[in-house]
Amino acid sequence: MSDHRNRPAGTAPSAETLDVLGIGIGPFNLSTAALLPKDGVTARFLDRKDAFDWHPGLLFRNATLQSPFLKDCVTLVDPTSEYSFLNFLSRSRRLNRFVVADHPNVKRREFNEYFKWICRSLDTLRFGTGVESLTFDGGAFVAGTDRGEYRAKDVVLGVGRAPFVPEGARAHLGETVFHGSEYLLRDIDPTGKRVAVIGGGQTGAEIFDDLISDDARLPSQVTWVTRRGNFAPFDESPFANELYVPGYTRYFHAQTPAERQRLLPMQKLSSDAILQPLLEGIYRRLYETDFLHDRGLDYRMLVDRQFTRVSPKADGWVLTMEGPNGVEAVEADIVILATGFSNGVPAVLDQLADRLVLDEDGRCVVNEDFSLRWDGPPDHRIFAHNMSLHTHGWIDPNFAGMAWRSGVIVNSLTGRYLYDVDVDGTTVDWGGKTTTTLEMPVLEPTGAGI
Ligand SMILES: Cc1cc2nc3c(=O)[nH]c(=O)nc-3n(C[C@H](O)[C@H](O)[C@H](O)COP(=O)(O)OP(=O)(O)OC[C@H]3O[C@@H](n4cnc5c(N)ncnc54)[C@H](O)[C@@H]3O)c2cc1C
Repeated sequence: MSDHRNRPAGTAPSAETLDVLGIGIGPFNLSTAALLPKDGVTARFLDRKDAFDWHPGLLFRNATLQSPFLKDCVTLVDPTSEYSFLNFLSRSRRLNRFVVADHPNVKRREFNEYFKWICRSLDTLRFGTGVESLTFDGGAFVAGTDRGEYRAKDVVLGVGRAPFVPEGARAHLGETVFHGSEYLLRDIDPTGKRVAVIGGGQTGAEIFDDLISDDARLPSQVTWVTRRGNFAPFDESPFANELYVPGYTRYFHAQTPAERQRLLPMQKLSSDAILQPLLEGIYRRLYETDFLHDRGLDYRMLVDRQFTRVSPKADGWVLTMEGPNGVEAVEADIVILATGFSNGVPAVLDQLADRLVLDEDGRCVVNEDFSLRWDGPPDHRIFAHNMSLHTHGWIDPNFAGMAWRSGVIVNSLTGRYLYDVDVDGTTVDWGGKTTTTLEMPVLEPTGAGI
């Protein structure tokens, strides 16, 4: 590893070859940046945004985390790290008040503040620097940015997932048909309009809740459509949560692709569903508009309906869907696609695409240490966050795996056992071994800290 040299944020890259280049600074790569040793590793993390902001289009005032705050950037792999959420609270002089407040779920706005606080402490981050190309020149990865080139021995991708827009809506994206991730950025006025929300997960629920909650800007009609059998709550029970401990992840990774594919839909509600308090809030609000309201609210909640397409009409849009009664149509002025995020290979890998090993469904084959299999030299690796649902299970897109996965990646990057990642088996017997040794290995000091 080369010497660590700091450069003020925003300055151009030099010709040096970094040890590590992180692409994207969302929560996941922020976690890796926080856990990388400060000395002996040269690293830069780049993000095209001008500053950190966590899903700003969905940062509702009252939206809460779907996970406990201990699943922060560092705690589950290094509870002594200075970058923990608890240390953020302490340094912000609110730890005692936080304990008294005893929030059942922490607000996303507060976690966004926590992430920004970490950003202020790390000198390895560069915002306003989008990576437009990524190639390998035989000796190093070369990232082309609007601020010059960065060369690095290894790369860690943390570019998140692109919004998924169903084919039947793609041709009509625009002012009044858009993906849910842009909801708050659009600043739409739903007052007196017919609004349709497609998608029965947490995002669809948050948007539907927002649309029905403010008496001063109620739509004339609001329709919420899902292909699921019902508006289902998260399964947060202990045995479902065991799917998110490292021992289970190792077990999952060891299964055949077909077996993993069989397991994922069975486990979906432990990750991709609606928080129970939000469902209760929506139900109570609908009770209020049905029985205790001056005007009432014209709403429809359609389950078991598969959206097929949106088509233009003289005064808005027609949504077509298939359900138990055959083909149905709903008219709307505004269509919001809460249709999730794509699991595809991210655009930043376009130039390396023919060097990646893909499975028969066109997904990257991911090693246990979250490096992508490719045909380049084995000592040059591309690690990836949020790209291994199919190989590591539901822990992948969730905060539950964030710190642990970063620990695995940092150990692999440095070739040292800096973080104890061989932890936590499960109580459930899944059909294979998920135990771990209880003996604590000797760890090397990381030097990661404020
Ligand atoms: C609204 C919402 C709430 C969520 N809440 C929770 C929760 O409470 N608990 C939980 O466990 N999970 C939650 N998730 C799931 C998941 O944890 C988040 O999506 C999380 O933000 C994923 O982090 P990430 O770092 O992979 O990606 P992102 O947060 O999407 O960040 C990716 C970053 O990469 C940058 N980028 C992309 N391409 C480039 C490029 N070419 N060059 C430079 N920069 C680039 C982007 O600008 C962005 O800043 C939530 C998801 C959503 C959508």
